[in-house]
Amino acid sequence: MIRLENVTKVYEGGTVAANDVSLDIQKGEFVFLVGASGSGKSTLIRLMLRDEPVTRGKIWVAGKDITTLPKWKIPYLRRSVGTVFQDYKLLPNKTVHENVAFALEVLGRPQSVIGPQVEQVLDLVGLEDKAGRYPRQLSGGEQQRVSVARSFVNRPPIMLCDEPTGNLDPRTSVGIMKLLDRINRTGTTIVMATHDHAIVDAMKRRVVGLEGGRVTRDEESGRYERAIVSEEEE
Ligand code: ADP
Repeated sequence: MIRLENVTKVYEGGTVAANDVSLDIQKGEFVFLVGASGSGKSTLIRLMLRDEPVTRGKIWVAGKDITTLPKWKIPYLRRSVGTVFQDYKLLPNKTVHENVAFALEVLGRPQSVIGPQVEQVLDLVGLEDKAGRYPRQLSGGEQQRVSVARSFVNRPPIMLCDEPTGNLDPRTSVGIMKLLDRINRTGTTIVMATHDHAIVDAMKRRVVGLEGGRVTRDEESGRYERAIVSEEEE
């Protein structure tokens, strides 16, 4: 579903934010990207979205080589990829319903389809009774639910999440993770950058560790910290 082959990203100024990264992510996987601030998590997410071009290497997303994708095709890539960020990026002058509906309007869906789909996804995220509110009338956790609803409403096969719980308290974060887990269980591939130890340890999913732009470990059902190696194994 997502494949990175020897991907290197050097920013202007010379920072090597991704260093020869190769990763294969299968359909339906849930993958955490973990590592200290500055280790390159957001960069990988941005590269997978073609927010930034790679310096070297190749990236395939949903069957397409996105490193050679012409600019005018980038919006088509984004239809296959939902995004959730730390700051919810909602439109302040639109209601919850309108924020979610807007994602379908820009795809040219007819109103007759939009209404029921928005209702269905608001139901999924548990905000059916707050459809008429504006973002400022919602808690942080609720705003993030709207953001998840907006990115999932057209049922993309992939969701890329960059620190989606970064602004939320632990209890609210658990709610967002339950939601992402449910979405993942419908077959959606999820890649999530985070430095939240508790969440990674509780979810027991694949963990890709980054340090200085390099992948330092890749564990199925991993924890945030590398397992302590016993003396015999050393
Ligand atoms: P993380 O998400 O793990 O905190 P980032 O991917 O944001 O890490 O950053 C990785 C490295 O790249 C850092 O050293 C950061 O300062 C640098 N960096 C990130 N974005 C840019 C940019 N647009 N221009 C130059 N350097 C950048």
